[in-house]
Formats: sequence, structure tokens, C-alpha cells
Amino acid sequence: MGPTSKDTDIVIVGAGLTGLRAALEVSRAGLSVLVVERESAVGGRIRSSRVDGFILDHGFQVILSGYPELATLPSLGPLRCKAFTPGARIRLDGKNYDLIDPRHKPSSVLRTLFSPIVSLRDIFGLACMIARAPKSPEPPCRHSTSDYLTRRRFSQLFRGAFLEPFLRGVLLDAQLSSDARLARFYLKIFSQGKALLPENGMQALPELLATALGREHIILNSPVAHLKSDRVVLSSGEEIRARRVICAADALSAAALGGPDQTSPHHGTVTMYFGANRPPYTEPLLMLNGDGRGPINNLCVPSNVQPSYAPPGKALICASIVGSDAARPINELEQRVRQQLHYWFGSETTEWTTLKVFQMPSALPACPRLSAGFREVDGIIYAGDYLSYGSQNGALAAGRAVGSAVVINEVL
Ligand SMILES: Cc1cc2nc3c(=O)[nH]c(=O)nc-3n(C[C@H](O)[C@H](O)[C@H](O)COP(=O)(O)OP(=O)(O)OC[C@H]3O[C@@H](n4cnc5c(N)ncnc54)[C@H](O)[C@@H]3O)c2cc1C
Repeated sequence: MGPTSKDTDIVIVGAGLTGLRAALEVSRAGLSVLVVERESAVGGRIRSSRVDGFILDHGFQVILSGYPELATLPSLGPLRCKAFTPGARIRLDGKNYDLIDPRHKPSSVLRTLFSPIVSLRDIFGLACMIARAPKSPEPPCRHSTSDYLTRRRFSQLFRGAFLEPFLRGVLLDAQLSSDARLARFYLKIFSQGKALLPENGMQALPELLATALGREHIILNSPVAHLKSDRVVLSSGEEIRARRVICAADALSAAALGGPDQTSPHHGTVTMYFGANRPPYTEPLLMLNGDGRGPINNLCVPSNVQPSYAPPGKALICASIVGSDAARPINELEQRVRQQLHYWFGSETTEWTTLKVFQMPSALPACPRLSAGFREVDGIIYAGDYLSYGSQNGALAAGRAVGSAVVINEVL
């Protein structure tokens, strides 16, 4: 059978959060929409797999309940999320120190106050920084996160053992060269809510949007080869004609389709998952590498937070690596990660099975535009986190913005 063609008001390339959110917006306004996705499932950078009864997200990722864009989505109730305890366990010089947000766990206030890692001045400085933090990361302030932290005069220990590894894990930016306004925005969002894991893994978030849209509007396993202002051409040769074409592919894929960021640097990360017969610790806490020794920046036990992440009687351990270590050959990296795990948790780690290693060299755009989230080039509208900022909130905001702009043009 030769190439065929379909018609729709709006065609969207990419079923990540940006594309799905844009599709919801135009569909709510009564326009017909088709989302074309090259992979076999929706989600883009938010995917989850089941391996030996464990749920593995493709890269450690959480939903932040404080994200403003979540309020524009259907209720997250069906995701049955569970939360990390706000704060962190810091691993420093062979010891653990828990810094727990006392607003969420008042009994931890003394332990946090008397921790050698944090001084009253640090707590006050952090509280002021969060109180004055912007509600949105735009416009950029043009100071790097690293410079900003230096100017705030936190103690060396608090900065080096807590703030830096925490923000490195969030921004996936080992040098902390990202715009400080973005870092301050994240700190505010973390302080206003909780970090959540859905019962069925992170992919449940894009699945929620896909269900709200209606699966009949999503075409999977269909890579797009070319874009024109009035149609997309699939690799199969099939064409989909539309009044408007939105390209919601990631920056690099969008560049191949004529997008605005032709050379887009990215921050990468590696996530290593291990299965164990018991967890190395039992609290639902994120653990940070406070002394910078070894490749692991942060670690958690997702099954301590959401027991469904591991089969009964087992524990799932998730180690995140950022910066130059993430670029090492995998065998060498795994050996170094295992040495660090052994140093942190002892000989029982030799029994842990390596379940899966996810390498994501292009996890987050390194120079996000911190702008509206979309841009028109030759009659095609490109949208995505690289045109806003790399996060679920940035992608959802870009999708909502491009969707409403198209609605205003096409309907009103
Ligand atoms: C490891 C990791 C951890 C993260 N942690 C967090 C976190 O904790 N909190 C947070 O807020 N954010 C986090 N993020 C960022 C967040 O996941 C992304 O910003 C967001 O998902 C980007 O969504 P998007 O729709 O813009 O892009 P994508 O998710 O990349 O979607 C683009 C879609 O386009 C499709 N596509 C591309 N080319 C074509 C083509 N030619 N034809 C058809 N389809 C195509 C792709 O297959 C993909 O499905 C993390 C990201 C990674 C990778």
C-alpha cells in the first residue's frame, strides 16, 4: 500500500510532557489534534520499565508537588503517589547526618539544629533565599548558581555537603554554572511541597495526560522524517496534513527537523539501579554525597518511599552520577560506584545485583532559553523544555503556552 494522508486541525510531533500538554490545551478548545510519537509509548524522558518485578524509571526523577503547572492538570490522585521525607541524609567522612525540614517533621528540629553541618546563620540564609526566591525562573538573572552561593556566604560545610550536591542532583550540572534564578526557583518549589513517586513509576505522569487526551489522538511507533508548515511526513512516507504543525520533540531531535537550537549543549547523567534483599537504610530519605569522594552524587532507596518499586522482601537502590564521571565507560563507572557503595554500606553491597544502568548524555538542556517555551520558524512552531527550562514544570508550561497561542490564532 502506498503512502496515505490524514487531516487534522493540529498535528504535534512528540508525546513527551510538552506535546501531551499542548494537545490537551488545543483539544479542550474543540480543535482536532493528533500527536505523533516515534517510540512505542508516551513519556519521552519520563519512562518506566519493569525488570524482575522492580519498577525502574529511566533516570532518577520525582514529581514536585509544588510545581504550579500541576494545578492545570487532571488530579494526580489516581497516581497514588508517596513522598520522600523533605530534607536529606548527608554522607560525610564516614558518618550520616540528617537535615530534615522541621516544618514537615517537628521532632527533627533539635537534631537538625545541632547538626555540625548547618549553623543558625545557614538556616537563616537559606530561609531568606527561599522567601525571596522568584515564583518563576524567568527572566534569567545571568549569575551562575555557583557565584550566587558564594555571594550568599553560607558556611563551607553547609554549602559543600548539602547545597552543592543537592543542586547538582536537581540541575544535573556538576559545575553549577546554571542560571541562579533557576536554582532558587527549585529550592522554593522543594520547600513548598514534597518530592513524589507514583505507585506505577514516573511514566504514570505522562500516561495521565494521554488518558485525559484520549489514546485515539496519539499515534505511536511513528518517527517523523520531515516537517512543513501544513503537514508532517512520517518515515513510512505517510503524511498528516494540518492547519498548524507543532514540533514538541526534544532539542536535538527538533534540530534535525529544522528547529531553532541547532547546537544545543546538554547536561548528562547516569542512573544505576541495584536490587538487594534488604535496604541499606529504611527511611524515605534522599542521601547526598557530602564529601565529594566517589562518583555517586546522590542515592536513594525508591522502595522505602513507594514499596511497589520492589517485589516483596526486596529493596531497590538507585545511584545517580553527574558531571565527568557520567561520561566514563560503564564498566569502569560501575566498579567505582560499587567501591563507593562498599565504603558507605559495607560488605553486604557485594550481594546486590545490578539491575540496569541508564545513560542519559542529553538529560537536560544546559542553556535553556528561560522564555515562553515556544518559537516559530518557517511557519512551524517548536516547543519544549529547551525553550523554557529543563523540568516537568518547564515542559508543561511550554506545552500549555504553545497550545493556548495556537488556540488564540485558530479559534478566536
Ligand atoms: C534523568 C532525568 C531526570 C530528570 N529529573 C527531573 C525531575 O526530577 N524533575 C523534573 O521536573 N524534571 C526532571 N527531568 C526533566 C524532565 O523529564 C524533562 O524536562 C521533560 O520530561 C521534557 O519533556 P519534553 O516533552 O519537552 O521532551 P521529551 O520528554 O524529550 O519529549 C520529546 C518527545 O518527542 C519524541 N520525538 C523526538 N523526535 C521525534 C520524531 N522525529 N518523530 C516522532 N517523535 C519524536 C521523543 O521520542 C519524545 O517522546 C529529568 C530528566 C531526565 C532525563
